[in-house]
Amino acid sequence: MGNESLAPEAVPDSLGGFHPSTSPTASRYAHGTLVDKYGRHVTYLRLSITDRCDFRCNYCMAEKMTFLPRAQVLTLEECLRVARVFVDLGVTKLRVTGGEPLVRHNAVWLLEQLADLPGVKELVITTNGSQLERFASALHAAGVKRLNISLDTLRPDRFRAITRVGDLAKVLRGIDAAQRAGFARLKINTVMVRGGNDDELLDLAQFAVDRDIDIAFIEEMPLGDIGQRRQASFFSSQEAMARLQTRFALLPSTETTGGPARYWRLPGTSTRVGFIAPHSHNFCDTCNRVRITARGDLYPCLGNNDAVRLLPLLRAHPTDDGPLRAAIVGGMGIKAQGHAFSSQMDAPQVVRFMSMTGG
Ligand code: SAM
Ligand code: SF4
Repeated sequence: MGNESLAPEAVPDSLGGFHPSTSPTASRYAHGTLVDKYGRHVTYLRLSITDRCDFRCNYCMAEKMTFLPRAQVLTLEECLRVARVFVDLGVTKLRVTGGEPLVRHNAVWLLEQLADLPGVKELVITTNGSQLERFASALHAAGVKRLNISLDTLRPDRFRAITRVGDLAKVLRGIDAAQRAGFARLKINTVMVRGGNDDELLDLAQFAVDRDIDIAFIEEMPLGDIGQRRQASFFSSQEAMARLQTRFALLPSTETTGGPARYWRLPGTSTRVGFIAPHSHNFCDTCNRVRITARGDLYPCLGNNDAVRLLPLLRAHPTDDGPLRAAIVGGMGIKAQGHAFSSQMDAPQVVRFMSMTGG
């Protein structure tokens, strides 16, 4: 039930990205060939299935957002086709994100298809939790292994202020529904904002402990022009860790997702605490992931503007995956060695909003 029709002429073409030469033969690229020029193997795809969202978090979006016309967004079948090619090239982990992925009509259909792709070991999603009351059971049945749920505050008035429109009670009911549905390990994502929620980090960690949930504290990243001063609101992982240590012992954990989070265990609890510190720690040398935006742009690095446009290829070659595969393999060649986010700048260092790339 994922059918959505698109006019073929409505192919966007404005991104000044790198366009690799294409090859007509799909068989030219063997399974597991997604290796960049620094020798990093890409095994993890983050797929944004919509740029739309029912929240307007003030660190993520501007107050007034213009969303993509529907014709410029990958159909769910196109999302599946892109994912299938990535999996065929050796990707084993898929994360569906957005915008808010669960506001996309028929998102569950896509998740079912993704879970069934041979070679997918882990299918996970990132959500703001607003729709979980409705969808948690279906997501579990579809084969989604884990959920990351964004939660920046436990105070209803503050929640409304940060998200501009959201209802905390609904998200908390969504977390309940996810636990009832059988998701073993949920993870909360908390973006730290000085003067916004930094006085609640202990409470949020305690909430995670009480609910047997993991929690990751994220440094705010300079993506998109949100019309506010990011420098003043920056709150570092080091400071967060020092705050948590006033109540909890943090035991270093060797667990890693190959991503930016470093994890600590809280003794006597099942909770792991992660800190995502793009400013203060360089995790780029072990990066194993790339991102696809809702309009089908392949971003090999979250912190850079280089991209490969896949949507025109998808639509120009509806039955031949060769050019798509070649573009994806070629895209590894522009994966930057690292990002250079700075907390000392107010202007966005990456022009697109986080809701475009999905975090
Ligand atoms: N709507 C879903 C959600 O909020 O979980 C998925 C998309 S959202 C863009 C993915 C993650 O990015 C969320 O955890 C969100 O808090 C985080 N995020 C958004 N803007 C950010 C920013 N400027 N810096 C750091 N994290 C950000
Ligand atoms: Fe929406 Fe997620 Fe961005 Fe908040 S962080 S506005 S929930 S996409």
